[in-house]
Parts: sequence; structure tokens; C-alpha cells
Amino acid sequence: MRKEELKEQILGAFSAEEWAAMEEDRVTVPLRAFNRETLLRLRDGDEDFPGEAEDGPVAELREMLERYLAREWADEPLAHKYVVQVCLALAFLYEKPMHAPDAVKYRTLVENGRAKYFCPAREEGAGSLCRFCPTEPMAALEARQEARAAETARQSGETSAAVQRAVFRASFQDAGVIPTGSLRFHKEVRDTCEGNRCRGYGASCACPPAVGSPEECRARVLGFEKLQLFSKAYLLPDSMDFSAVGSAMRDFKECAWALGRQLRPRLSKLLILSNEGCGRCKACTWPEEACRFPEELQPSIEGFGFIVSELAKQAGIPYMNGKDTVTFFGAVLYDENGLISEVE
Ligand code: SF4
Ligand code: SF4
Repeated sequence: MRKEELKEQILGAFSAEEWAAMEEDRVTVPLRAFNRETLLRLRDGDEDFPGEAEDGPVAELREMLERYLAREWADEPLAHKYVVQVCLALAFLYEKPMHAPDAVKYRTLVENGRAKYFCPAREEGAGSLCRFCPTEPMAALEARQEARAAETARQSGETSAAVQRAVFRASFQDAGVIPTGSLRFHKEVRDTCEGNRCRGYGASCACPPAVGSPEECRARVLGFEKLQLFSKAYLLPDSMDFSAVGSAMRDFKECAWALGRQLRPRLSKLLILSNEGCGRCKACTWPEEACRFPEELQPSIEGFGFIVSELAKQAGIPYMNGKDTVTFFGAVLYDENGLISEVE
């Protein structure tokens, strides 16, 4: 059947009263927020679903889910319909994992404008519901990343490989090493900061002028032997969705802070730079006081005078990842002989 027909079937499975209850968050059966939001987005979003969903797999998934829920969740029969319809929408319309990200901690890679999902809970076999789910096993991602890290060990050394493994574990998707001696510092990038189009200049301890003069930034960077650029790409509902860009930036920052916590005890010295300003506190202490979290402070990579697209080229990683995506970058600075203990 056409996917648009399947969408109509899913929407038609709920009465007007049931939709009103979902809208007002007063559904009387257990319904996860993720499932409620998925159904409301299907009804209200402006996504098109071109193409066909094969009748056989749609019917098979529906029957398997109904059997599974009758067996495992027999005391809540009225909730089954919601789960079945959400799974059909995710598997055949959105082509996304059937569980919420926080339920199974799946990882996403975005390449050429398309997302690939890797699930740690995926079960193989004909009897598994997972075979309808557009994910790959997490082991496939881990093998791919380990091959990258092994190549980095050969080309740049074991510390670079250890940093890269930590970068991947912190859920970044690309990374590449640049010796600091080959970096270029651009005065015009600092001049752009001072133009304050981003409204970050003078607004945080992570941006100029708090990060130091261009000469001080350069000296800080050249005090390290290597810069490892890392990135994470996000698929957006559309490129003008600024709220989705803000959420992606927040996720990127959380991952970069987690990376810092992993690496700090294991490298003799390090500096982490991160896209744009900080945004951690509601109001930054600058200029009255020092940062509230000095150990975790990650200065702006642009504020140090780098052109990120140039760094991406030098590091051999993509600067852009396709239509309706945004890619954020950060960098770890370290010495190749600076590994104190293996990164867990
Ligand atoms: S692969 Fe299986 S466990 Fe993972 S999200 Fe899909 S259905 Fe859920
Ligand atoms: S952590 Fe808080 S105080 Fe420090 S730079 Fe960020 S916003 Fe400012």
C-alpha cells in the first residue's frame, strides 16, 4: 500500500475523543510521552511519506505486536493500540527505531543527509520484532569505529587512538588528528567575533575577549603537540528549525562535557575547544567573576581563530553532512606522550 494510506489507517485507529485526550495529555491508559508525541507529530506534522510500504511486513509486524502485547501486557489491553500504531509509524513511515532513544540508548550517525541507527538491544532472528526495525546492531558501529581508531594508532600513535576511542564513546561520529604545527590561525575569524553577530562576544568566559588575545590563544594551542578534531551531525526536521538546532547544540555540549570528564584524569594535560560559546548556566559569570566550572570550561573553537571548514579538511572529516543537517565541531588538544592511563 502507499505510505500515505498507511498513515491514514494509523490516524484512523483513534477516535476524536482519543485524539483530544492525547492533545491534553489525559489518556487514561499508560502511554509514554514519546509515543504520544510521535502520534501527534504524525497527525500535525507536514512530513510527506512518498513510496510504498509492503503489505506483508506491515501485517506481519501488526500481528506479532498484538500477540506479544496480549502475552506480556495482558492487564492493559486498551494501551495496546497505541503501541501498535506507533511502531507501524516508526518502522514504515519515519523509518526510525521502534523504541525511544532513552529506552534503548541507540546511537545515530548522519551521513549524506540520511540517518543510520545502531541499537545495543537489537535481537536477531525470525521471531524478533527487531527485524522490522531500521537499525543495525551496535556491534557494527563499534567495529567500524575500532577500525578507524586502529588506523589512527598506526598513523598518529596510541595516545591519539585512545583519545579517538573516547571521542567515539562520547557519541561523536567523526574524528581526525592534526599536528598543531600545521594549524593556521586567522585574524579575520577573531574580527568576526568582535563584530558580535553571534551575540557571544563579551558574553561568556568561553568566548573572546575572555579566552585571551589571539596571540595568547595561539600560544596555548602550540603548547600541545596534537589537535584532534571531532564532530557530530544532526538531522533536522528542516534547516530553518532553530529550536531543533538549539536542542542539537545542547546535546553536542553535553557530549563534549562528558568527553572532558573521561579524558581529564587520563591525560597529563589537555584543552577541549567546542563550537560557539558555552550556554551551560542561565547567566554567565563573565565579566564579574571566573567561570563556575573552570575545569569543564571549553573555549570557543572559533574564538581561537580557527576556520572550522579548514580544520575539517586537514583532519579528513566531512564539514557538512547533507541537506537538513547541522554538524557541530570540537577539538581535543593533547601530547602524544601524555597518556597517563588507558581511557576506559
Ligand atoms: S532494534 Fe529492537 S530493541 Fe532496538 S529500537 Fe529497534 S525494536 Fe527496539
Ligand atoms: S560554565 Fe557557566 S560560568 Fe562558565 S563559561 Fe559557561 S555559562 Fe559561563
